[in-house]
Amino acid sequence: MTSRHLSLLLLVAAPLSTHGQASKSVYALPQESEAATRAFPAQLRSELAKLRDAALGDDYAYKQLAHLTGSVGPRPEGSPQADAAVRYVADELRKLGLEVRLEPVPVQRFVRGNDTAELVEYPGQVPGTTQKIVVTALGGNSPTPELGITAEVAVVNSFDELKSLGKEKEKVAGKIVLFNVPFDKRKAADGQAGAAYGEAVKYRGSGGVAAAEQGAVASLVRSVGGAEYRLPHTGWSTDAHIPAGAIAAEDADLIALLASQGAVRMHLTLPTHHGPDAQSYNVIADLKGSEHPEQVVIVSGHLDSWDLGTGAIDDGAGVVMAMETAELIQRLHLHPKRTIRVIAWMNEEQGATGRDFYAKDHASEVANHAAAIESDAGAEHPLGFHAKMNEAAQKQLSPVQDALRPIGANLLQLVAQSPQTDIEPLAEKGVPALGIWQTTLTYFNYHHTAADTLDKVVPAELRENAACMAVMGYALADMAEPLEK
Ligand SMILES: [Zn+2]
Repeated sequence: MTSRHLSLLLLVAAPLSTHGQASKSVYALPQESEAATRAFPAQLRSELAKLRDAALGDDYAYKQLAHLTGSVGPRPEGSPQADAAVRYVADELRKLGLEVRLEPVPVQRFVRGNDTAELVEYPGQVPGTTQKIVVTALGGNSPTPELGITAEVAVVNSFDELKSLGKEKEKVAGKIVLFNVPFDKRKAADGQAGAAYGEAVKYRGSGGVAAAEQGAVASLVRSVGGAEYRLPHTGWSTDAHIPAGAIAAEDADLIALLASQGAVRMHLTLPTHHGPDAQSYNVIADLKGSEHPEQVVIVSGHLDSWDLGTGAIDDGAGVVMAMETAELIQRLHLHPKRTIRVIAWMNEEQGATGRDFYAKDHASEVANHAAAIESDAGAEHPLGFHAKMNEAAQKQLSPVQDALRPIGANLLQLVAQSPQTDIEPLAEKGVPALGIWQTTLTYFNYHHTAADTLDKVVPAELRENAACMAVMGYALADMAEPLEK
C-alpha cells in the first residue's frame, strides 16, 4: 500500500470516530465472538501463553529431528530405517508417559538402483562424446531393462500437446516423453508455492500414464522444484508400466534447446524396483483426556521420507512438532480435557495408505475426533493455519490466534480441501482439519531431493512451528466447548 492510499484511508476513518465510536474505526479488529469467550476461560488463555513461551525456548523437537535425520537417516517405507524410526518414535513417546500402539500399514519397499541418463545423439555433438543428464527414478516407476533403453526424446509442454503430437505417426510412439513444465517461481516467491507445486506436479503424478497411452517407452518430467541446483526431485507417479523419472530443470532446458534443432537420443537406466510386501506401522500415542478421554485431537506429521535426502523438511519436522506438543504438555503438567493423540503417519509418500488404514480402523470413532492437525510443508516461519472447518468454528478460535500473534502466526484461513494429506479422510468426514501454514519460500527448492537435510531447518523457526502445533493442539483439546462441526 502506498502512503497516499494510507492517508485516504485515514480520512475515511476519521468521520467514524465523530459518531461516538472511537474504537470502531476501520482498523478495529472484529470483536471476539461470545462462543470464543465461553470456550476460552482466562486460565486456558494463560496456559496457551505459557505453552507458546515454553516452546520458543525448547530444543526437544530439534534434537529429535537431529536423531531421525542424522542417526536413522532416510526412511523410505519398508526400509530398515523406517522400521527403526517407528520403534524410536514409539519409545520416545512412551518415555513421555503416553499410551503407545503401533497400527499395521502394509507397504512395499522402494529399492533404488543406479539411475543414469545421457544424451547419445544430438545436433552439434562432438564426435566420441555424450552429455550427462541428472536423473532420478520416481516412485511407482517400472524399471528399465538391465542395460537400459535408448530412444529419441519427444519434448512436450502440456498433456494437450502430447495428445495432439500422439496423433501424428511415430511422433511419440517408441520415444521417451519429456514433460518440460516449469515450476512457477514467481508464485512461490509470492507465498503461493503450494499452488505452483500443484500446477506442475500433475505431470509427475500422471505423466507416465499419459505417455504410455501414446505408446511412449519411458516418461520423464522436469523436476518439480523452486530452485535450480541441478538437483533432481523424486516423488510419486502412478505406475504406467513404463519407466518414469525426473531430470534436473537445467537438463530439461538443454534437451528442449537441442530438440528444437534436431533429433535427440537418450540412453536411460532406471533400475529402481519395488521389494516384496512388508509390514510397517502408524505410531499412535495417546495423552488421555482428563474429562472426555473418548474425544480425540490429533497432532501429526509423517515419518516416512524419500530415500535421496534424510527427510528433515519432509516430514521429520512435522513428526517432531507433534512429539514436542506432548513433551510440553507433560513438562508443564497440563491436563487437557480431551485426548491428545500424537500420530507419526506411515507411507504418505507412496500412496498414503497409512491414513486410509487409520480411517478404516477407526471408522466407528470418527465422530469422536474433535479436530486433526498435521504439518507437512517444512519448518519455515509459520504464518498460522489453513483450516477446513466452518465459520462458526473459525470464530471460536480467535483466542488461539491472539496467543500466536506475538510470533506472527495468527492467520487462520479457511480452505475448501483438507490442508494436508494424512488428515484428508477425517476432513472429508467433517472433522475440523488444520495444517500449519508455513511461508514455504525455500521448501520446494529441496523437497524430495538429496538436499532435504537437517541444515535446511532453522532451529528458531522449528520452535515457532512447535509452538503453533502445541498451542493449537492443546487449545482444541481443552476448550470449554468443543469446536463446532
Ligand atoms: Zn510430506
